[in-house]
Amino acid sequence: MRIDILTLFPQMCDAVMSESIIGRAREKGKVEINFHQIRDFAINKHGQIDDTPYGGGAGMLMLAQPIYDCFEKVCNETGTRPHFIYMSPCGKTLTQERIKELSEYSNIAILCGRYEGVDQRVLDELVDEEISIGDYVVTGGELPAMILADGISRMLPGVLSAPEGFMGESHYSSLLEHPQYTKPPVWHGVEVPEVLTTGHHANIRKWQRERSIERTLERRPDLLENAQLDKKEKEFLEQLKAKD
Ligand code: SAM
Repeated sequence: MRIDILTLFPQMCDAVMSESIIGRAREKGKVEINFHQIRDFAINKHGQIDDTPYGGGAGMLMLAQPIYDCFEKVCNETGTRPHFIYMSPCGKTLTQERIKELSEYSNIAILCGRYEGVDQRVLDELVDEEISIGDYVVTGGELPAMILADGISRMLPGVLSAPEGFMGESHYSSLLEHPQYTKPPVWHGVEVPEVLTTGHHANIRKWQRERSIERTLERRPDLLENAQLDKKEKEFLEQLKAKD
């Protein structure tokens, strides 16, 4: 998969995406991530990429033309028209399910806004989808874009060392992950749950699934509607609900 990120801060993005798992995945060619400086497409000699909004209001807006030209360059470079996403607090809130779907695309481009946002006309003309990372506002689209690109990249084959690495994790199957423990066996007087030290895989799996269900009911009961539970797990959930 190839991801192209259109930004005013390509070095900031490259630094984040060059470390750890995603950095190694890029080095091994499991995912190609490129950064494009929107300012390079400014049409006046001062490199201006923003201006005041019509109708007044605080702050500046990013101009349509440099973004349009930058995306055109990405299309020419890739030889296709990538699915174009604008990171925006007005977008649909990102979910693990949408990340899974987006990881099936072969080309994605992501626009990072700055200032008060972007001239609506270029969004209407080019953007396929707006995505928000949550109901709050940050100063720019770079961190949201990194979250999206990281989330997508780790779903790609060969990026995580164990292919099933993400399957038991929170949100993959609409459950939160169970609590986890590592060495030492006793820390600050608290022992690791005994079942985890038995080596009995079926019992361990059952314990983990039940703790996942318990935690999801306690913290995010809204998720349980879509959780895939077998008959015994459904009974366990009903017992938990009856206790409340
Ligand atoms: N004036 C805009 C509004 O009220 O919707 C907020 C602009 S914000 C300060 C600047 C840029 O940060 C946005 O264009 C967007 O790209 C990015 N951004 C801020 N919060 C975001 C969020 N929750 N999700 C995705 N992108 C966000």
